Amino acid sequence: MELFKPMEKFDEAADKPVHEGETEKVKCLIIGSGPAGYTAAIYAARANLRPVLYEGLQPGGQLTTTTEVENFPGYPEGVTGPVLMEDLKKQALRFGTDIRWGIATASDLSSRPFKITIDDQKIIAADSLIIATGATAKYLGLESEKNFMGHGVSACATCDGFFFKGQDVAVIGGGDSACEEALYLSGLCKKVYLVHRRDELRASKIMQERIKNRENIEIIWSHIPKEIIGDQSVNGVILQNKKTGEEKKIDVQGFFLAIGHQPNSEIFKEYLETDEVGYIKTIPGTSKTSIEGVFACGDVQDPHYRQAVTAAGSGCIAAIDAERWLSEKG
Ligand code: NAP
Repeated sequence: MELFKPMEKFDEAADKPVHEGETEKVKCLIIGSGPAGYTAAIYAARANLRPVLYEGLQPGGQLTTTTEVENFPGYPEGVTGPVLMEDLKKQALRFGTDIRWGIATASDLSSRPFKITIDDQKIIAADSLIIATGATAKYLGLESEKNFMGHGVSACATCDGFFFKGQDVAVIGGGDSACEEALYLSGLCKKVYLVHRRDELRASKIMQERIKNRENIEIIWSHIPKEIIGDQSVNGVILQNKKTGEEKKIDVQGFFLAIGHQPNSEIFKEYLETDEVGYIKTIPGTSKTSIEGVFACGDVQDPHYRQAVTAAGSGCIAAIDAERWLSEKG
């Protein structure tokens, strides 16, 4: 079997890849700068893979839109999302990761080295590729939703629910995530309204049962949020009945979106196996995708847990998988 060629040019003294026109050759390319990407970078850099990491559309990933993070181990007093991401970035830099601005806009994974286009211009030829592009929570698109982001509006109950202890909140959606978020919040909050746009839930039967048996959860059927209202932070939501058009207000301090996530796998879908939503499939217990030498970690391959700490753990797995694979291939 043909092994991939050794790196064509690498300036050992400068410890940097040599640029060749518009194409640059690297041993390990990481795309994405959330907890998965940075953790992969820390491990890959310490394994001397000289990783190059492109930060992507949202440097620091989804956590940069959260305020306080209290469930990432090692921060007993909590830490803000942006500070946590800055710390992870510093740690990746400390071991020599080449961190760059830029968005991966196309890929060609048909042969090795894999070719990734950055910002529609430059091409990186990578011997191994770690995809850590994350997922994007879906939002309704309301202007007021943007205005109250981080001030009552959230797309992660596990991350932000604690701040609404003893208060009333609304969860939007009718799938398993919405039910899970509502159940989680019902253990913390006084009252949880589960607002769904239809008159039956999409969630699994077992989840539906749990929701219906929880005293402080009220399902508001066939309604959609029209506007979130408040002053400095959320204090209510105007809902519209989809059948009658009538509007009503509920008083809530928290507004949780659970209408799905979109994994950021678009540019790889032509080559990699994904599920029907677009989550990249990995061999269970590993970060290995359907193409040898391409590894995926973090939310782009995880429809279930989606936590910073699980993303970080999977980033570590991806770097170790990449390192072992590269050394096997010589
Ligand atoms: P989902 O199943 O796609 O559900 C999204 C929900 O949001 C649906 O009820 C949908 O309404 C509603 N929705 C979508 N767009 C909306 C809009 N613009 N306005 C109002 N409502 C809107 O997504 P998910 O709940 O995140 O689940 C994703 C996958 O992960 C599923 O396969 C799920 O089973 C799985 N999951 C499993 C577990 C578990 O097993 N514990 C937990 C979480 C997720 P409609 O129903 O009308 O389409």
